[in-house]
Amino acid sequence: MPYKAEYIWIDGNQPTAKMRSKTKVIADGETPGIWGFDGSSTQQATGDNSDVVLNPVLVLPDPLRGGDHKLVMTETLLTDLTPHPSNTRAACAAASEKYASFDMWYGIEQEYTFFDGIKPLGWPDNGFPAPQGGYYCGVGADEVFGREVVEDHMDACIEAGIHISGINAEVMPGQWEFQIGPVGSPRAADELWLARWLLYRIAEDHGISATLDPKPIKGDWNGAGAHTNFSTKQMRESYQPCIDAAEALGTNVAEHIANYGDRIEERLTGEHETQRHDQYSYGESDRGASVRIPWQVVKDQKGYIEDRRPNANCDPYVVTRLIIETVCGAASK
Ligand code: ADP
Ligand code: MN
Ligand code: MN
Ligand code: MN
Repeated sequence: MPYKAEYIWIDGNQPTAKMRSKTKVIADGETPGIWGFDGSSTQQATGDNSDVVLNPVLVLPDPLRGGDHKLVMTETLLTDLTPHPSNTRAACAAASEKYASFDMWYGIEQEYTFFDGIKPLGWPDNGFPAPQGGYYCGVGADEVFGREVVEDHMDACIEAGIHISGINAEVMPGQWEFQIGPVGSPRAADELWLARWLLYRIAEDHGISATLDPKPIKGDWNGAGAHTNFSTKQMRESYQPCIDAAEALGTNVAEHIANYGDRIEERLTGEHETQRHDQYSYGESDRGASVRIPWQVVKDQKGYIEDRRPNANCDPYVVTRLIIETVCGAASK
């Protein structure tokens, strides 16, 4: 029996890329090879020279179709098989290779918001729900909206072999989080993109949508981030490298902020458990800092640190590349 391979890629939409996918039916015994698409429909080519190549980078079992069906995460290439300008994975893979001896791991907390039409899931048709306070990790139909989708998504990630490490309801009603990791790069970002695709796809079956908008509701409502926890081998062995990493991030603030997701200044206001986008700080257990050193890490005197700045709508290939370059670059000096 032939099987279905869902080829998934990242388009050229600016300032925030979107995910695209299409299905290839592949003969029994054959593996998913390179394929292509019409780049003129995805902001990746002009109509007169429209072919863009899809190169498989991670093939996993498809938990939705089951059987022998596959999910195929791809990167985009030009027809000469060099990276497409919109391909951010190639640079991430190169940096990961360069600093392979550090054995960097990432744990990314992806926050997102369910929408039912034009309002967050569970919100009243007119006005606002009760103010934030009881929703984070809440329980009960008056506080929690969309759990059945969250459960389906978590099961699907586990079945696919994605390293999902947990989920929780977030501070704003209708907002949730899942965590990927710890995994090395570029695989951490490959898995996060696939997990995002599964989220959109599963929500579609439930008749709702999921958005990575970093500030879906203006005002006194939390934004959505993608806190990125990371550790080198040295950080996992002793404390000083954890401090050194936090210091290193403080030397390259503007470049990180500029590449941590569109409209980051709307989310990093200094309110709602964030540091301002134009200030840098790190601290133990401090959720108002740019970078937090978790209490357990202080206690153990080794472990990892959390870069709290990336937006929910960030490109994890870019975020993980910048962290590895800044942190490992400084440690190599
Ligand atoms: P928070 O308390 O900020 O909500 P979470 O529990 O949501 O933290 O996320 C922590 C993330 O850190 C998880 O994805 C976890 O896998 C990851 N993590 C744990 N240890 C390490 C490590 N040594 N290196 C990198 N990431 C790690
Ligand atoms: Mn979390
Ligand atoms: Mn969170
Ligand atoms: Mn966090």
